[in-house]
Amino acid sequence: GGLLDQLGFEDGKFTRKRTIVHAVNDVSFEIQKGETLSVVGESGCGKSTLARTVVGLYEPTGGQIFYRGERVDNKSGSQRKKFRTAAQMIFQDPYASLNPRMKVAQILEEPVRFHFPEFSDAEVKQRVADVMEQVGINPVWGARYPHEFSGGQRQRISIARALVLKPEFIVADEPISALDVSIQAQVLNLMMDLQRDHNLTYLFISHDLSVVQHISNRVAVMYLGSLCELADAKELFANPQHPYTKALLSAIPRIGKKGFSHIKLSGDVPTPINLPSGCVFHGRCRLANQRCVNEVPHAITLDSGTICACHAVQEGRSTTMPA
Ligand code: SF4
Ligand code: MG
Repeated sequence: GGLLDQLGFEDGKFTRKRTIVHAVNDVSFEIQKGETLSVVGESGCGKSTLARTVVGLYEPTGGQIFYRGERVDNKSGSQRKKFRTAAQMIFQDPYASLNPRMKVAQILEEPVRFHFPEFSDAEVKQRVADVMEQVGINPVWGARYPHEFSGGQRQRISIARALVLKPEFIVADEPISALDVSIQAQVLNLMMDLQRDHNLTYLFISHDLSVVQHISNRVAVMYLGSLCELADAKELFANPQHPYTKALLSAIPRIGKKGFSHIKLSGDVPTPINLPSGCVFHGRCRLANQRCVNEVPHAITLDSGTICACHAVQEGRSTTMPA
């Protein structure tokens, strides 16, 4: 419960030119205040589209997004304006996401001036200085341009820009994967500290399962825009159900040692424009049968609380994957 008590997303379809791209098909979930829900999957699975749609950067052509129980995906929604400040995004690439022609202080002041026109100049500058300190960037450096900072510092500035409106919900799309490995942990730890200090809710998009295991309360696994499995993080890593989840987990060496053998997936991820029939994973799943080819598996909730969309799981067939 709490402030951000409901954020749901259902059945999104997106128009890119004239082609319907089934970027986030049959995905529906809620995020609780203060939790970290991670979304994992290979590139092209619809994670970034989902992230951008949730914060309103993409318009869903179908589906609904709720915030505090009210829709925010249509212009008439009374919570929409609130949601535009309450939900902020951190992008993968801190080089591309900061305007190179603006000084850092300007980059951080702009959204505050836009969303809080009643603030005095001193109040705006104070808000920006506070947030720079919170992310470990000396406020006097606000007079510098983004290119004068390292990649890690730039991502701290991006985080500051997300925080400057005092949001309660942050969507972070691969926030550390463009950074040097040596500074990834620092930025991740900063994000965790900020979450604790401000009771932030995170939707964390990642392809890195060892990071996800470290930070998540719950994990959603996506493949080709479809939700495969959604589970408590501990449960997902101890007891994966969906064949795709098992294949992903088997690729983590640390987990592989604990009795999962490495499962090799055959074939490439198909294009999201021509989705496979039935289960979108069937072309790469060694457990696929005729039903999997014909029929879309619907998500069901198992006794453990795990949500899983797989015929084999539903039928009680063994989903132990041949290595
Ligand atoms: Fe594999 Fe069939 Fe389950 Fe899809 S529904 S993951 S093809 S067993
Ligand atoms: Mg992406």
